[in-house]
Parts: sequence; structure tokens; C-alpha cells
Amino acid sequence: MRKIDSIIIHCSATPEGRDVSAATIRQWHKAKGWNDIGYHFIIRLDGTVEQGRPVEQPGAHCTGHNQKSIGVCYIGGVAADGKTPKDTRTDAQKASLLVLVKQLQAAHRILSSHIYGHREFANKACPSFDVQAWKQEVQL
Ligand SMILES: [Zn+2]
Repeated sequence: MRKIDSIIIHCSATPEGRDVSAATIRQWHKAKGWNDIGYHFIIRLDGTVEQGRPVEQPGAHCTGHNQKSIGVCYIGGVAADGKTPKDTRTDAQKASLLVLVKQLQAAHRILSSHIYGHREFANKACPSFDVQAWKQEVQL
């Protein structure tokens, strides 16, 4: 098992209200020439958590930070126009995100201080919400 010490949260940058499966994202990423989906977990609009790339393998979701992290992606993250960053998380997605993050923390002994949003490492809007503020809100 690789050494895992952090969780990085993403959005799929797909329009609000459009549900997308892990299988579809896997197709998109394979079309880019990758060998598998870049994220380890996908959270659908209804809160269903789908497995992406096996956790044992490094993901492809955050340049320079893939080796020791787990990539979690919620579906959404932009407004209906398809480009304006927006926190589109449904209540179900918020609930699932919290449960999943806690499970991963317990399983891999990840400190709450090691949970990040993609935008903390890249000049992007992803995941379209402030992960540090969210952690405080949910008392992680
Ligand atoms: Zn991202």
C-alpha cells in the first residue's frame, strides 16, 4: 500500500443539475490518454459514492500531489452556464462528502489539517467552495 497522508477535494466542473457517473468520467479521462479515471471517489448528485481509481494506486487529479493523496470529486461545481464556478453541492452530496472524508481519515489516519481543496494547490476554482471554511463548519 502506498503512503497516504492527505485528501484533496474536487468538483467535476459539470453544470449544476447534470448527473455524471464515474464510468463517464473514466471515459473522459481515458480519452485524454490516461489509463484510468483520475479520481478515487465520485459523489453523485443523490449522494451515492462511486469508486473511481483504486485507492492503492496514485490518482491523477492534482499535479505534484498525487503520490500521497486521495482524490474525491463531487459532481457539479459550475453554474448552468457550464463555466461560472458555483458550489452546487446538494444536501445529499454534502452529507456523503462528510461521511466519506471521515471514513478515509479513519482508514488511513489522515489528519484534518491534511484535507484540502484543489484550488489550494493550483490556480483553479475547483472545488468551487472553501474547504477550510467547510472543515470548520462541520467540525472536522
Ligand atoms: Zn480539481
